[in-house]
Amino acid sequence: MAFIRVVLTSAMLVFAACSQADIQQIGPPATPVVIADSFAYPVGKTRFLTQAKDAKDEWYNALDFGEDNHLGEDWNKNSGGNTDCGEAVYSAANGIITYAKDAGPGWGNVVMIEHTMPDGRRLQSLYAHLQEIAKTTGEVRLREQIGKVGNANGRYLCHLHFEIRDESCPSWDMVFIGYSPVRTGWLDPSDLIDSRR
Ligand SMILES: [Zn+2]
Repeated sequence: MAFIRVVLTSAMLVFAACSQADIQQIGPPATPVVIADSFAYPVGKTRFLTQAKDAKDEWYNALDFGEDNHLGEDWNKNSGGNTDCGEAVYSAANGIITYAKDAGPGWGNVVMIEHTMPDGRRLQSLYAHLQEIAKTTGEVRLREQIGKVGNANGRYLCHLHFEIRDESCPSWDMVFIGYSPVRTGWLDPSDLIDSRR
């Protein structure tokens, strides 16, 4: 009996451990899996941009990640105002669209894409305030157009709010509030792109 009790106790401990490990805030990978082997910027004619408002490209990052507790980057055309309304927004890497809809006031149309990295880890990119969504489901390739730059139904001057999250993000597959002093789960988008060109 003692042996059986030990076996049962061990089995219960293993079960409890597995249950703990299975408690995650995110679901299983979107399938089929396409590997995100490189990243590029989501706007502009070229794959890579400078964040500065300079003559090297037509775009700049108007509100950096972490600045004023921003959880993403705000991409605008150097020419300002609403001159970027309707410009193409591209997938930052190969992936699967997991979210594409109007997320309400403050957000407007939002697309989220899940990216499986070569090492199996997953990232998620988010594109907000879109004037139009060009694709709502399925696999997307690096630099495939997924929408157009917009103003969140007139709430702002046109710009792209762009986030990159990892699997620790508490709002995986959900919009959040765009700003928080606690940035666990959010990555600096330009740093991530520049490190995985
Ligand atoms: Zn923003």
